[in-house]
Amino acid sequence: MKKHLGETLRYLERLVSYPTVSSDSNRLMVADLAARLEDAGARVELLETPDGKKANLFATLGPDVPGGIVLSGHTDVVPVADQDWTSDPFELREVGGALFGRGTCDMKGFIAAATVLAPEFAKQQLRRPVHFAFTYDEEVGCLGARALVPALQERGIRPAMAIIGEPTGMQVIEGHKGCCEYTVRFSGLEGHGSAPHRGVNAVEYAVRYVAELMQLRGELMMRAPEDSRFEPPWTTINVGRITGGVAHNVIAGKAEVDWEMRPVQDGDAAFVKTAMQRVVDTELLPMMRTIRPEADIVTEVVGEVAGLQVMAENAARDLLASLLGANGADVVPFGTEAGLFQQMGMSVAVCGPGSIEQAHKPDEFLRIEQLEKCLDMLLGLARSRVLLQDPR
Ligand SMILES: [Zn+2]
Repeated sequence: MKKHLGETLRYLERLVSYPTVSSDSNRLMVADLAARLEDAGARVELLETPDGKKANLFATLGPDVPGGIVLSGHTDVVPVADQDWTSDPFELREVGGALFGRGTCDMKGFIAAATVLAPEFAKQQLRRPVHFAFTYDEEVGCLGARALVPALQERGIRPAMAIIGEPTGMQVIEGHKGCCEYTVRFSGLEGHGSAPHRGVNAVEYAVRYVAELMQLRGELMMRAPEDSRFEPPWTTINVGRITGGVAHNVIAGKAEVDWEMRPVQDGDAAFVKTAMQRVVDTELLPMMRTIRPEADIVTEVVGEVAGLQVMAENAARDLLASLLGANGADVVPFGTEAGLFQQMGMSVAVCGPGSIEQAHKPDEFLRIEQLEKCLDMLLGLARSRVLLQDPR
């Protein structure tokens, strides 16, 4: 055990030293992981982005059969610019049992533990595969996982379970809300403020749009599932930013609205999008275009991350609970890649070392004790019947 911990600390130090901020390449870190997993006997595939700047890593130990489990983590980290760090964020530093560095808890700690234990998995008489899925661009809308899922489907890879190692303090998490972000751009027609009827005021249409969004809130509250365990229990909408116009006396030609919603159930996102599209197509655009046919409202999807739906039956949750001796599982307010894997038909739970409280902040840290718990859980998994019994 101590041997694994020492090795994991050294490997985490190495992973932290790759500055894999989402805007930059993750190739060096992925190459490092690939080499290490290959050494352990894994079949490794790198799935590059079209520009080759980033890659997903997918690796498999054990037989090529359906079932088994995916250990999933994202390789990217959030930026450190404008954050006040006590020391170099890309140099791991231990102080009093805590490991400081960007990505320690979110989520290179989990990736280091899983990768260091690959030889332990390889040693077993695996009857079902263990997959490692390390993705890019999670922090900017789960882009890597979004590309990985169809690639796995194409290859006929059908794992039964996935563990997403996001920081949960090693608690078992069986559900989270989704997160959908949009930027809506309004283009109208500028003009003199004294003749509003001759222009198309983009700011005013943006305000109408926002008013419609706010209207939907009441309906979303009514739609909340009775047994929802989220706080608040319904799908929320937040308008985060409105910009537009140039001066008091000018009809605003341009405006922009940034908004997000956090759906508690599958149907809610579609409900909101359909309602807003109807408002745009049947009310706002026709009015704008009576003055200027080229007037437009364009919605950019910044990111749509599916929620992790709580399921009565969830083999990944039950497996984690038994490995950790936990009774029950919880839900969390933050989003992960879990929903994407769930949509592939896997049972999925989120469980990883460290606290989300420390994620994305300056002086991000991971307690060594958390890493030990994670190693214990993964070693238990390597010896679990789930992987060692005959596939059906
Ligand atoms: Zn994360």
